[in-house]
Amino acid sequence: LNRRLDGLGTTIFAEMSALAAATGSINLGQGFPDTDGPDAVRELAVEALRGGYNQYAPGPGYPDLRQAIAEHRRRFYGQTFDPDTEVLVTTGATEAIAAALLALVEPGDEVVALEPFYDSYAACIAMAGGVRVGVPLRPPAFGLDVDALRAAITPRTRVLMINTPHNPTGAVLTRAELTAVAELAVAHDLLVITDEVYEHLVFEGEHIPLATLPGMRERTVTISSAGKTFSFTGWKIGWVCASPELVAAVRTTKQFLTYVSGGPFQPAVAAALRLPDAYFAEFTADMRTKRDILAAGLEAAGLTVYRPRGTYFVTTDITPLGFDDGLDFCRRLPELCGVVAVPEKVFFDDTEESQKIGRPLVRFAFCKRESVLTEAAERLATLR
Ligand code: PMP
Ligand code: GLN
Repeated sequence: LNRRLDGLGTTIFAEMSALAAATGSINLGQGFPDTDGPDAVRELAVEALRGGYNQYAPGPGYPDLRQAIAEHRRRFYGQTFDPDTEVLVTTGATEAIAAALLALVEPGDEVVALEPFYDSYAACIAMAGGVRVGVPLRPPAFGLDVDALRAAITPRTRVLMINTPHNPTGAVLTRAELTAVAELAVAHDLLVITDEVYEHLVFEGEHIPLATLPGMRERTVTISSAGKTFSFTGWKIGWVCASPELVAAVRTTKQFLTYVSGGPFQPAVAAALRLPDAYFAEFTADMRTKRDILAAGLEAAGLTVYRPRGTYFVTTDITPLGFDDGLDFCRRLPELCGVVAVPEKVFFDDTEESQKIGRPLVRFAFCKRESVLTEAAERLATLR
């Protein structure tokens, strides 16, 4: 195996979902909803499968989907992107992340990323030959430490990688935090990749796209995806919005990774992006209720709960239950009470300091039916 891939074995999501399947446990590990998105949207995919969309889509994605992506960014954030030159359809945000990093990072370049970090960032930075430098988000608030960010930037820094709303902590970066990121990016002339797949999952405050801040439009690659917003995580349609130069760079790598992305899902995602405002408002409100149910249930079960302002996930500390290592805890949880969660320490650096923070943290997903969330919390309460 290529040494760049050392330590990257099997993702924690695959391990924990396999454990859930093997033990019949409630799976609050991997983040996917247990209810599909809108029927009308799904029917459009069915229609596309019946004919017209079963051969290779155009490399950058169907023009109507690129148009719909641009319309969505304008409707919600007032951003303007040219659908022909500034939008690229990808195979989920996962491919967008890989293609962007492979396009922008040269061997030895440093990529500064928020720690804990979504697992594919570490893997893709490594595959690009880059060096990951973490900037800590720490409990209880998981706010951005601007001094630490400033200190992390060196002459070798090439890219800042931002993720808001943030997986796994549920943090939503504030305007002040994003302004600090933007000022540093401009001052050091850095490129920025921003992963905004949870853009419609903000429960308090608002989602501010980094590219809307002064000086950022030209240097930012914005990534999002249909999976979370429309509850079709299996469709794997994502996108990149950026300047023509940056989109062209990402398109170059994308064309040699997958060439094109899932044709029959593209017209359906275009329609989904054009759903009325009420769809998005109801989606957020529904997920907020689920957040509240799970957070209350986990608190009642005795865990320390760090209430998230966004995403699908609640971060907890398991210390009050008498455990100290989240990975051991998650591996034993199915046998102890029939629940699966994800240990967060795998999203932290290997240093002693980082592992000490990450060790007792465990992430629970709340994108599930309310009865499932309640049942999971009741099972966890039996551990006391
Ligand atoms: N980024 C983050 C922060 C995620 O949580 C996920 C998982 N949905 C992805 C990217 C990947 O998104 P997709 O399923 O669209 O590839
Ligand atoms: N993004 C989801 C999560 O964090 C799923 C990730 C995956 O399976 N790669 O749980």
